[in-house]
Amino acid sequence: MSSSTQTRVIAGIPVAITRKKMKSLRLRICSKTGMAKVSAPVRVSHNNITAFVQSNLQWIASQQALLAQQQATLKPYENGDTLCLLDTHVRVSTNHNAMKSTLQVVEKNNQGSPTHILLTTTPGDTYNKQTALLEKLFRTELKRAVAHIMAEYEPKMQLNVNEFGIKKMRTRWGTCNIQAKRIWLNLALAEHAYACLEYVVVHEMTHLLETNHTPRFWGLVEHFLPQWQKAHDYLGRQGC
Ligand SMILES: [Zn+2]
Repeated sequence: MSSSTQTRVIAGIPVAITRKKMKSLRLRICSKTGMAKVSAPVRVSHNNITAFVQSNLQWIASQQALLAQQQATLKPYENGDTLCLLDTHVRVSTNHNAMKSTLQVVEKNNQGSPTHILLTTTPGDTYNKQTALLEKLFRTELKRAVAHIMAEYEPKMQLNVNEFGIKKMRTRWGTCNIQAKRIWLNLALAEHAYACLEYVVVHEMTHLLETNHTPRFWGLVEHFLPQWQKAHDYLGRQGC
């Protein structure tokens, strides 16, 4: 995905630059990582992008500070909260004063997805302890879903993926190493709809048939996943 995204250091700060078909430069701060992101029309020069970022340094610093403040006050899950994991609403039960930090799946639906979990954490820094436990669950569930999607599309697309993995990525939803036939998916996809994950997996698999984002590439995506556009646009708005 977004093979035209590059990270450059401008005035001492890392900036993700994505070239797109658009009319003017756009700057925003990723709400998850705090990273500055510029979307630039294909033909704008690097010097122009640098000048644009430099004229907005104060704004970037203030937005990043604001985000850091918000993140510092993120609340831990409390008993009765719910979270969204792919398309499943998961009820959360908590215990903040346990002897050990653990995550237990209390209930699953008939597809095997957790619908109720128990998060127990030792006292102190509850938010970060819960986050670490949840990431493990998200990884497990994503792997299960990705394996399912690949098993469906490998015969349809007449190809094989050798290996896939899940990792945290700042600027991409997925990547594909064509020689190794290895696909990486962004851990953050766990918090979006199943249709989004399906799109990213099919997109990366399509790279095994067509390296670049050519008209043929998009034609293949359309052929294998006719409803791809909605997920593509939604994920584009989420940034990455
Ligand atoms: Zn791509």
